[in-house]
Amino acid sequence: MENLTSSSGTLDLAIIGGGPAGTAAALEGFRHGLSVGIWERNRFPRDKVCGEFISSEAYPILQDAIPETVARGAEIRSAQFVTDHGMSRTFRLPHTALGLSRRALDAALWKSVESAGVETHEGVVVSRVQKLSSGGGKDGVWEIESSNGSVQRAKSLIVACGRWWAIEGLSSPARRGEPQATGEWAGFKAHFAGVPARDRVELYFFHGGYCGLAPVEGGVWNVCCLVHREKFREARPKALEDLAAWLAHVSQLPALEKRLHGVGQVSSLVTTAPVRMARQRAAQGGALMAGDASGFVDPFTGEGISMALHSGRLAAQAVARALLEGSEVQSAAEIYGQSLTQAVRRSYRIATLARGLMQGPGWLRDLATGQLPWVGKYLVRETRWRRNPEVGPDRIRPD
Ligand SMILES: Cc1cc2nc3c(=O)[nH]c(=O)nc-3n(C[C@H](O)[C@H](O)[C@H](O)COP(=O)(O)OP(=O)(O)OC[C@H]3O[C@@H](n4cnc5c(N)ncnc54)[C@H](O)[C@@H]3O)c2cc1C
Repeated sequence: MENLTSSSGTLDLAIIGGGPAGTAAALEGFRHGLSVGIWERNRFPRDKVCGEFISSEAYPILQDAIPETVARGAEIRSAQFVTDHGMSRTFRLPHTALGLSRRALDAALWKSVESAGVETHEGVVVSRVQKLSSGGGKDGVWEIESSNGSVQRAKSLIVACGRWWAIEGLSSPARRGEPQATGEWAGFKAHFAGVPARDRVELYFFHGGYCGLAPVEGGVWNVCCLVHREKFREARPKALEDLAAWLAHVSQLPALEKRLHGVGQVSSLVTTAPVRMARQRAAQGGALMAGDASGFVDPFTGEGISMALHSGRLAAQAVARALLEGSEVQSAAEIYGQSLTQAVRRSYRIATLARGLMQGPGWLRDLATGQLPWVGKYLVRETRWRRNPEVGPDRIRPD
């Protein structure tokens, strides 16, 4: 479905990708008075591999955009870490987090973009982009070509395509070919009913991966895992057949087996691979990269969605400032890159360190888990988006 407001003219801002980063960028660009167009290859609602734990830092943006959907979400007040040696520690989160399915979250964000009056292209793949030179060293204009044959022009471009995408005219991860040796992970997710209620996120760590359980709206639980690809490949048929049973088998964790005993899977299994935790470029040839397209932080930080929302918003603010002041979008992209680095550099460092601890030998996992709640609170604090003046008032979800 397409919602066109200004298709004949040149847009101020084109956004590729309708996930949290793209929709946050669209709302922010529109709020600044820009003419905005957004392209999304899927149709909503759709499932997505994600732990669906939304940190409190995302709250201000979500509360502004989709308050009714936020109100339906589950409240998550604490986190539990369990290791394969049976060690278990629980700590209270500094602020209440939100459990909300990506079906509900992404569809609501897309709807709010549509209702705002942004030009939307749902179910349309952007296949190629090209920057046309305007001469004289001034900003050129982007040409955005979709697989349905339509071509649109825009003064600026935000790429919010997630982790894995391919667009001709940009250096895309799917075209570059990710290194096979480091961090090749696979993720998978399903929803379950009948899991005894708790207001906490549970993380079960084992050799070669981990599994998270989190409540989402409607009394349903998200079960999401990240496992080394080899482990997943060999067991995928079993996972497809009975995810709960396969998890109990692959993790060798009696606590997890007990937690999933007697539950019923209420959604189909969705999977994603490869998953590589690393920072990427913040800008490419004047296009601004937002959300996972600018890097993917380890999911157990629970900060990916918040980072996507904040970086999308920051990118749109940089573009709006440049266009409204009549300065070069190219320099806005550089300023955005610096602000993004300030906001997330520490998160990546700490997440890498924590991953090393939790994926090392079992005794190291126990040692780190034994230091909870101190380590957990440190991890939560240090992996969060660093506020700067651009991201608005320092509000978090009220407890
Ligand atoms: C296993 C796993 C567990 C996770 N758990 C959590 C968690 O619990 N909490 C958390 O905060 N984060 C979690 N994350 C991370 C979180 O899912 C991402 O950080 C978040 O989705 C990033 O949002 P985004 O908008 O950048 O990208 P996405 O949500 O991936 O959206 C990008 C969109 O771009 C579209 N697109 C791509 N290419 C094109 C194209 N050419 N044309 C048009 N559209 C295109 C895609 O269809 C997609 O909808 C997890 C990730 C994984 C893999």
